[in-house]
Amino acid sequence: MKRRWILAHLLCAALVAGCGGESSSNGGGGSGGSNGTGGTGGGAAPASAQRPADYIRNTGFHTLKIELDTQAGLSPRNGTTDELIEALSGVVDKPGGIVIVPDETDIPPNEDGIWTAAELDALARERVGIEESDGEISLHTMWLGGEYENPNVVGVAWDNRHLAMFGDRIDRACSGLLIGALTCSLAEATIWTHEVGHIIGLVDRGTPMVNDHKDPDHPAHDVSSESVMYWAYDGTDFTELLGALTGDSVIPWGEECERDLEAVRDTN
Ligand SMILES: [Zn+2]
Repeated sequence: MKRRWILAHLLCAALVAGCGGESSSNGGGGSGGSNGTGGTGGGAAPASAQRPADYIRNTGFHTLKIELDTQAGLSPRNGTTDELIEALSGVVDKPGGIVIVPDETDIPPNEDGIWTAAELDALARERVGIEESDGEISLHTMWLGGEYENPNVVGVAWDNRHLAMFGDRIDRACSGLLIGALTCSLAEATIWTHEVGHIIGLVDRGTPMVNDHKDPDHPAHDVSSESVMYWAYDGTDFTELLGALTGDSVIPWGEECERDLEAVRDTN
């Protein structure tokens, strides 16, 4: 029961929508922080991993792997993975590299097309697991069809370990708004980066804040719409996300998120 509650809470935090007022319950360590809630189940994580700090710093783990499991026929768009790696390269210290590791490609569609939080977590625990040599740490992405139980959400992250991206939702959003391929790819990369941001502990979800920049109305998000960790950039407000894509790369981390990550990165 307890694990289920924590999971529900973490998902809610990552999702934002309808989660008002839950932030206060985060104080008791339920954020997943450094004790690794991943240890509650699959056991794929190295026992020594201190998530999320070990994703960020070069202490013990010199290489970050991003496991990618996909539903048959779905995958990130061209260029999306490069954008994600570039965004991460600016904030984590991984001299061994940041690498996408395509793994399973046969995730079946969900029967009713709607993924609940519990279903996603069960799927994640079943599918997670790539080889990790000494010095390698991984996080887990699943690329799925259908939609989340909150259909406004395009990406969701939980447990400082797993995330799901809803590829069909991105297709629909882009085609509905007549978005070109390049912009659509950047939007997709922005949402993926946002979810990885939650996994590496933003905002105040395992990575401490140097200055307070948490949005009181949207736990785990940055108050600034100039940060990729702004609440709308999980795809909840696709139009606003597109409006913030002013350059030829994903929406930046923003000053305060960079400061938080730098503090972890530079502490051994
Ligand atoms: Zn979010």
